[in-house]
Amino acid sequence: MEIRNNILGYLKKKYVQDLFDYYDEREAEQLLSILIEHFFSITRNELILNPDYRLSESEILKLHMAVKELKKYRPVQYITGVVEFHGLKLEVNPDVLIPRPETEELVKLITDREKDSDLTVLDIGTGSGCIAIGLKSLLTRAHVNASDISQSAINIAQTNADANYMEVAFQIHDILNSKEPIRDKKGKQILFDIIVSNPPYVTQEDKRKMHQNVLDYEPHSALFVTDNKPLKYYEAILNFSKENLKTGGRIYFEINESRKNEMVALMNQFGYSDIKLVKDLRYKSRFVFGSKKNHHCRA
Ligand code: GLN
Repeated sequence: MEIRNNILGYLKKKYVQDLFDYYDEREAEQLLSILIEHFFSITRNELILNPDYRLSESEILKLHMAVKELKKYRPVQYITGVVEFHGLKLEVNPDVLIPRPETEELVKLITDREKDSDLTVLDIGTGSGCIAIGLKSLLTRAHVNASDISQSAINIAQTNADANYMEVAFQIHDILNSKEPIRDKKGKQILFDIIVSNPPYVTQEDKRKMHQNVLDYEPHSALFVTDNKPLKYYEAILNFSKENLKTGGRIYFEINESRKNEMVALMNQFGYSDIKLVKDLRYKSRFVFGSKKNHHCRA
């Protein structure tokens, strides 16, 4: 009976109600709005003004299947396959983490502090490429490089850079195990002015509080660390920076707020100066940055 009703305003209401057992009312409405805009290019406001828009049977089926996935807590970004990040449209799939609003803040923090000049930048563990591409879009004169251990992440990041006409040099690099530097096309080692990373930092303890939509669908390799070595990626990046970050160069990290003191101590131990913690919009200490001091540079 309901399937014969093809009026979008009605269908939206019905599907929003269907989701009440799974999401709160506001979120259910937002999710349907995202799906409708993605599939049919009809914004929430347009639908309010024109609720009688009619769908074809195959369009209804699309919406129906998507709602079915939402009931399994599949993140809506993996259903639509796109996210917006700093005004850029980025493709995502389960090989990469869905960019978080905090990470948009990290890009803003860096671009607010750095001048748009001839900077050489490296984003380690780039995933969808969001940080690297976001930085390139705002620091247009910078030479942006990005690495990841996963070939499928590099593929999607490259697609995203190309789709947004941003030049970023991507390469496979295993920050935990490789002693290799990042090299330019001629094979010469690149020395960086800025190294940035949002590495895995979620501990097993935090994991218990995480929602099913993250746990069941997002790549665990991009999220989790063991409780006995929660800072291992940061240590590896700081070690890498001994040889690959210029003296006076800056490091910017997204961090687990429960490790903020250890992070400051670690940066101190590696000889960084002007170390600062920065809170995110939810008042959690989410970022740390610092400069590499002269006398600790071996180069
Ligand atoms: N902020 C992300 C989350 O809470 C984690 C990102 C990360 O591990 N780097 O899901």
